[in-house]
Amino acid sequence: MYMGDHIVISIGLAAIVAKITKQPFVTVALLFLFANLVDFDHLLNYHLDDGTANSMQIHPLHRYAPYIASGFLLVGLCWKKWRTELWIASLAFSTHILLDSLSAVMDYRIPLLLSTSVVTTSLSCYVVHRLFQDKSTRDRLLAFMLSSLILCDLELIVTVYVLKMIPQTNLFFWVIPPTLLLFLSGLFWMCFRERDAVSGAFTQLENV
Ligand SMILES: [Zn+2]
Repeated sequence: MYMGDHIVISIGLAAIVAKITKQPFVTVALLFLFANLVDFDHLLNYHLDDGTANSMQIHPLHRYAPYIASGFLLVGLCWKKWRTELWIASLAFSTHILLDSLSAVMDYRIPLLLSTSVVTTSLSCYVVHRLFQDKSTRDRLLAFMLSSLILCDLELIVTVYVLKMIPQTNLFFWVIPPTLLLFLSGLFWMCFRERDAVSGAFTQLENV
């Protein structure tokens, strides 16, 4: 699955998890966003990755994902202080892998991936719209989600279709996405940390 979709779904799922676990939304969302850094492993085998190869087979962190997710669970079991965060990180990591598996099942066919993107974006926006009662926060969050999606998709279109970069010859092709993810995660934290701590807008989620 493409990065923009991972970011949008991360926010939607984080809202649900924050509501269930009663943890601060920004912390949960950042754990979900950072779990997508697993895609750094594309850098290790970028020469094999042509956009059609199965991520679950050629990238080490994706390949050994069940062990990594279980590792987070086990460490959380032993380390009580960070248990909630580690278990949420495990869930976030597993979700990323599950979504990538869905793309692999679809053979990375663009029309199917785009249709999935429409469905997952609509569902994620619906969740945010339904769960957050503070209108200003809700609108900012939706704006962040949709602009992240557009920015990431534009980056993909420019690198692949305009500049015609291919992974086999352009390491830069794989450097931009993680940089963009770190930038957007930082932007998310800057935009929403005060609202989470001060207004409590995220922690007072509407009962559904
Ligand atoms: Zn991935």
